[in-house]
Amino acid sequence: MDRRTDWFTDPAYRILRAYARSPVARGPQVSLTRQNALDFMSQASARPERSWSLDWTNVLFLGGYHLLLIVLLPIYLAQTDVSASMILSTAGLWTLCLLAITMGYHRLYAHVTYKTHPVIEAFLAFWGTVATQGSIFSWAHDHRIHHRHVDTDLDPYSAPKGFWHSHVLWMLKKRPEINPRIIQDLWKRPSLQFQHKHFASLMVGANLIAWAGVWAITGDPFGALVIGVLLRMFLVHHCTWFINSLAHMWGSQPYSTEHTAVNNFILSILTFGEGYHNYHHTFAGDYRNGVRWWQFDPAKIVIWSLSKIGLAYDLKKVNHLTIKRRLVAADRHLMMERIEELKHRIDVDAWNQRVEEAASSLTENLNGLKTASDKLQRLKKETFQQVRTAKAVKVGEMRAARDETLKQMRAVRDEKMAEMRTVRDETIQQMRDAGQETLQQMRQRRNEELELLQQRIDELKATVSEEMEAWKEMVHLVLETPESRLAMVPVTT
Ligand SMILES: [Zn+2]
Ligand SMILES: [Zn+2]
Repeated sequence: MDRRTDWFTDPAYRILRAYARSPVARGPQVSLTRQNALDFMSQASARPERSWSLDWTNVLFLGGYHLLLIVLLPIYLAQTDVSASMILSTAGLWTLCLLAITMGYHRLYAHVTYKTHPVIEAFLAFWGTVATQGSIFSWAHDHRIHHRHVDTDLDPYSAPKGFWHSHVLWMLKKRPEINPRIIQDLWKRPSLQFQHKHFASLMVGANLIAWAGVWAITGDPFGALVIGVLLRMFLVHHCTWFINSLAHMWGSQPYSTEHTAVNNFILSILTFGEGYHNYHHTFAGDYRNGVRWWQFDPAKIVIWSLSKIGLAYDLKKVNHLTIKRRLVAADRHLMMERIEELKHRIDVDAWNQRVEEAASSLTENLNGLKTASDKLQRLKKETFQQVRTAKAVKVGEMRAARDETLKQMRAVRDEKMAEMRTVRDETIQQMRDAGQETLQQMRQRRNEELELLQQRIDELKATVSEEMEAWKEMVHLVLETPESRLAMVPVTT
């Protein structure tokens, strides 16, 4: 349900608003009819330019693969029935490539509406490379210029120059070199520098992987090339390019009529959420494009879900009251325009006054709500601050208490250590003394034993000497006897 309806209490205001937004009042340029779409597509470039030269790389690449597809697709379809696995794997690639462009190239890099984990960034950069829409640098660079100078000559894909210009022709013209100042925040990142520098090889490599993947799933190398690579590239390209062309021509403009961007549900389906381009050009810093809960914007759901599991953070969102105020301002602007057109048929002053009054009262209510919401936010912030301060104080106190306890424990420990050291030293001393005493006793005992031994030796010596003397005497006596002398004469025969 459109929640804005509860505020539009003035019936006259509501009727006029409905009229101002109806195709009857607005003319055919923004109604969702088939004829209008065909008209837009048949529009030639509104302003032919002469001062440009062709970008031959893009001409040959884009022209070449379109031509190849036109030739190979009928040949393939004539000889083979397209298998379910071929359709599913190609649809899978198409989804991954478009999500990478929507979530990565557009909302993450060109507008920095959220931040994400490096693994998710690598995933988005890889599938963005498979999507073959140039490096992140060149894409974000051109897109930032598009937002800054929308619908002017400086806008690279300026929609007023016609459907074909904004859809594809702008890419065939030589573009000025990248100005690093426009993408200063991205320029300093080495991984993005690498992707930019080696984009051609990375793009070929990534598409070879995609081809091999479809080939492995389907077992059909030729089909994988024609459907999985060429047709998928064609579908991804044109779906994205529709945002530069049709999303500036075909749809509604609820948020602003100051630029050509429109909201278009069908384009949202084709690009996973980029079709709410009128909202996006009005609030480009929002990570959502389909800002209402019921609007088809899978990219916003994926980003939100990633934030819930901690893989995305710093999601930027425009305050809902600011959005509503913008809606009222756009309605008012539109109704004033319609009244101007109806001047000759109605009482302009009375209608002017009614619109002014209704719009002013709505704006006033919204301002009041915004002030209240701001106050609430401020209070919330203050409360958070107080809680944070109280927490910091508590933490400080706890830290001081912990330090004090630690200090006491350390003192007790030191004291205990000192006591233990003293006991240890005393014990060592006692042991040393005991050792000394024992040594002394052993030395004394040894000396005594040595003395005893000496005595014994002396005694033995004395005994031996005495015995020797006795023997000597005995020998002498024997030698002195006559029998002994005779015995010493030699016997002859
Ligand atoms: Zn745009
Ligand atoms: Zn954008």
